[in-house]
Amino acid sequence: MKVSIFSNNGQSSRKVATALHRGLTAAGITIDSLNPDIVVTVGGDGTLLSAFHHYNDRLDKVRFVGIHTGHLGFYTDWRDYEVNDLIQSLIRDNRQSVSYPLLNIEVEYADGTHSDQALALNESTIKKVSGTMVADVYIKGELFESFRGDGLCISTPTGSTAYNKSVGGAVLNPRFNAIQMAEIASINNLVFRTLGSPLIIPADEWIRIEPAEATDNVLMCDQLSIEGRPIKAISYRIARQRIAFAEYRHTHFWQRVESSFIGREAR
Ligand code: NAP
Ligand code: MN
Repeated sequence: MKVSIFSNNGQSSRKVATALHRGLTAAGITIDSLNPDIVVTVGGDGTLLSAFHHYNDRLDKVRFVGIHTGHLGFYTDWRDYEVNDLIQSLIRDNRQSVSYPLLNIEVEYADGTHSDQALALNESTIKKVSGTMVADVYIKGELFESFRGDGLCISTPTGSTAYNKSVGGAVLNPRFNAIQMAEIASINNLVFRTLGSPLIIPADEWIRIEPAEATDNVLMCDQLSIEGRPIKAISYRIARQRIAFAEYRHTHFWQRVESSFIGREAR
């Protein structure tokens, strides 16, 4: 088994990464950042997002594990003091895994060309650089609404606790194979009308967003912006690919939500 250690630059993360490197090498496990079977991230959810984008061309071969060196993360469920337990789990690995849906993004540019398919683990947002974003929203090829406001956020179930949650989207258990669209400050009055609430679509539907103006849009894919060429439309659907995590132990999804956002134990 080949393991890649993907750490952020924080001091505590680098310490954990060094200990992990030493422990894995001593156990005879190969460290290979080019063709790993397992990617261990050390940092926060942002670090796992970066690792996902780094290895997004080998999602069918790779499983992820996240160690958090800050507060509890959604993708990082090993604590920094559990490095030895994790090494033991890696040694005893028998390919146990759990996988989650990803968002497929396809951009149609104003010049008629198409982007390569991009994948998001959390979400994609479309906003305007300044001023109101006006866009037509189609679901499964039918015009659904004309949106006016700050922007739109299309998220995966595991991304539902990130940006989506800040804009009033629902928290979705990742066992649902679905994606969600949430509005960012929509304008709703007698003239302009949108649904005004988040909506969730299944795997055989897709969302197409056509901004009224091709330029000055900001299109994000997780923490990355997609290059600023004039955009005709963006299509979102559930990706064929999924992200796999090595599941050495199981944390109940709602327990993770509770400990991250409600924290009954701390009170
Ligand atoms: P960041 O500014 O560090 O991320 C914002 C916060 O979101 C951090 O606390 C991050 O955790 C947390 N987070 C990331 N993914 C999450 C998830 N799936 N569930 C719950 N919390 C999550 O930037 P970043 O680390 O590069 O992460 C990029 C993400 O930030 C984007 O994908 C977007 O979801 C989110 N974001 C949120 C807002 C907002 O809520 N208004 C605005 C922009 C972006 P860590 O500290 O562990 O990294
Ligand atoms: Mn972060």
